[in-house]
Amino acid sequence: MFDKILIANRGEIALRVLRAAKELGIGTVAVYSTADRDAMHVKLADESVCIGPPPARESYLNVPALLAAAEITGADAIHPGYGFLSENARFADICEHHGLTFIGPKAEHIRIMGDKIEAKKTARGLGIPCVPGSEGGITDDVEALAVADEIGYPVLVKAAAGGGGRGMKVARTREDLSDALSTARTEAKAAFGDDAVYLEKYLEKPRHIEIQVFGDGQGNAIHLGERDCSLQRRHQKVWEEGPSPALNDQQREEIGKVCADAMSGLKYLGAGTIEFLYEDCNFYFIEMNTRIQVEHPVTEMITGLDLVIEQIRVASGSPLSLTQDEIRLGGHAIECRINAEHPATFRPSPGKIAYYHPPGGLGIRVDSAVYQGYTIPPNYDSLVGKLIVHGRTRNEALMRLRRALDEFIVDGIDTTLPLFRTLVRNADIQNGAYDIHWLEKFLATGGMEPPK
Ligand code: ADP
Repeated sequence: MFDKILIANRGEIALRVLRAAKELGIGTVAVYSTADRDAMHVKLADESVCIGPPPARESYLNVPALLAAAEITGADAIHPGYGFLSENARFADICEHHGLTFIGPKAEHIRIMGDKIEAKKTARGLGIPCVPGSEGGITDDVEALAVADEIGYPVLVKAAAGGGGRGMKVARTREDLSDALSTARTEAKAAFGDDAVYLEKYLEKPRHIEIQVFGDGQGNAIHLGERDCSLQRRHQKVWEEGPSPALNDQQREEIGKVCADAMSGLKYLGAGTIEFLYEDCNFYFIEMNTRIQVEHPVTEMITGLDLVIEQIRVASGSPLSLTQDEIRLGGHAIECRINAEHPATFRPSPGKIAYYHPPGGLGIRVDSAVYQGYTIPPNYDSLVGKLIVHGRTRNEALMRLRRALDEFIVDGIDTTLPLFRTLVRNADIQNGAYDIHWLEKFLATGGMEPPK
């Protein structure tokens, strides 16, 4: 096991990793930019090192500064959290070259899954069902037209290097396709410096359902059920829950087994998420995330397993702590991502938290790094915290969520708490009757009060 872990991240996930390390009796090193001097992860870590000025490029993404911090403090492993360097294969390689264990998958797997065309090919080869589409990248319009004719319209043009929903364009008819291709290419080039694109059948009303997997790097792999993350705004997840209201036990078993077998075939190491669109009882692979995800607490609440501790254990060479047969999914969990944004306009609202009162009681968990008097800096994402509730049934989880949201006070800045208070009372949400477009439509049709 490691003696000391450097946490190459900030905010709630830095705190989350710190908590896991403390429970394992491992020393912790926090790194921080000058904008984060007063951050909770800095206060709670055993040691901390300032790694640069506020812009992430010069601090949280500054590899030489991170390596120097690890060397000065004698850390033997680095946990990247999510975002920043977590899916950077080069960083994983550099850590290994410097004798530091990167707490994450092997660099080769990060690399494969980071390229969507490569990822899809690999997934298909491993027996994971994929969205019908081009075999690989599309080089010219003639090829695109032929593929689109075969799979049928509407089709979606996607960037190989895609992320955050950028570089995606829908073509509803043959006439739209050429425009969609050139727009997607231009957007992809600007956003990722790579204009490779591919084609997929555009699904009209899918849900987003993802499977949590874990591997030990030796060929043993398990799945931990699914999370339904269909409630999204601009392709960003807003509300996540598990189990999905759309799946039954048999479907869950089947897709879970496909994913675990695939990870076993890949000899995958650590935590991963296989993301699917789900429509008419079919699963379609869209991508795999090779890191711990923001919404991992949903799975922790229904399995009782600490996923970050598990990541640390397998990175240190220990076996998985559970076999598939030992995993029991219990009850229902829902997570709300509470952002420092106006609840109707989503305008960012960094600033000082004048008063803070998180909810408590049975089945309530708040993962957050803020505190009363803390100033949320404008330089990073706007997450205030995640409210996670657990109940024996979905209905109990919803009742608890409604109560917890009403109890939650964050004064001094705008937050998206009122959005969740509205959602938890909505009939479609209560019935679990939503797809990936539901939230956008709800907002566009005045679901939230217009700004004052
Ligand atoms: P990114 O890496 O940019 O987030 P994804 O492939 O994960 O890209 O897709 C992001 C979102 O775009 C999905 O959650 C879904 O809402 C939508 N999407 C992706 N592929 C399709 C498709 N074939 N049909 C319909 N919607 C899609």
